[in-house]
Amino acid sequence: MNDFNYHKAATIDEAVNVVNENPRAAYLAGGTNIIDLWKYNIISPELLMDVNQLGEGIIETSDGIRLSAFITNSATAWHPLIEERYPLLSKAILAGASAQIRNMATNGGNLLQRTRCYYFYDPNVPCNKREPGSGCSAKEGYNRIHAILGASEQCIAVFPSDMCVALAALGAVLNVSGSAGNRSISFNDFHRLPGDTPQLDNNLLHDEIITSIDLPSKGFATNYSYLKLRDRHSYAFALVSVATGLDLEDNIIKEARIALGGVAHKPWRVIAAEEYLVGKAPTAENFAIAAEIILQGAISFKYNAFKIELSKRAIVRNCLMALDPSSQLPGSQPSA
Ligand code: SF4
Repeated sequence: MNDFNYHKAATIDEAVNVVNENPRAAYLAGGTNIIDLWKYNIISPELLMDVNQLGEGIIETSDGIRLSAFITNSATAWHPLIEERYPLLSKAILAGASAQIRNMATNGGNLLQRTRCYYFYDPNVPCNKREPGSGCSAKEGYNRIHAILGASEQCIAVFPSDMCVALAALGAVLNVSGSAGNRSISFNDFHRLPGDTPQLDNNLLHDEIITSIDLPSKGFATNYSYLKLRDRHSYAFALVSVATGLDLEDNIIKEARIALGGVAHKPWRVIAAEEYLVGKAPTAENFAIAAEIILQGAISFKYNAFKIELSKRAIVRNCLMALDPSSQLPGSQPSA
């Protein structure tokens, strides 16, 4: 680790202005990923701008709920409004990491965490995300956890968050502040595919900071499910995860949301699959057709071909569990 300066921000404007003036400044929230990156010499910030104290909690808005980006994942998952109106989000958060990490990690930090590709964390091997132009060790290496959708010649990493899979399904909107002012970004436009710039995970500028996350009023609280498939039941990243929200009337689907995690460089949503389900009965056969649409164009590498079939089965299983949310797998459950 390098020597560094530490500053505790009193306001968002102060934090933004200081970070804007120093290209080697970084925001510090829970620190659950940035400290790892630092210890592995993947980053070397000169100034840490602590923003933990800027949180405003969770508030109701005229058309939904606003989550502060600076409060913890635990505080969000266990908040009564989230448990009651957005249980899909609560369940996805509680499927991630460990209780200790969720108690430290913030909502904004969850969105900004880096990939868990092993080669990214090993400075001794080529990695285009860590060092653009050096190569991708995963393509010919051990790529069991890597992408089957949206990958590029440059990078086949996946984005590891559980929380973000639910936020994608819910259609969240991010509020961002920077030296050029404030702006809102729809969740599906926030994270990037690797393309020719795998070093960029998202569309945030250096000085910009996520201040809050808006959840639309529709929370799919009656028919929802989050399914996370992984090598062990706790403290492991998803091989495949699925967030499903259904709006049903007289056993016909009025609206469907399906997002996948663990399969691409960003949470993966295919609108055509959701539209296919509208007006259909919620059957395994119809969910299987939606799964085929979602997995169109999937490409595997030497060790991860199993993820394509696993994803299709996970989609069908999760959509069926959404018909009866009490049928979801045991584990950390919302208490509602
Ligand atoms: Fe680096 Fe991406 Fe290749 Fe992993 S998959 S080694 S993060 S370039």
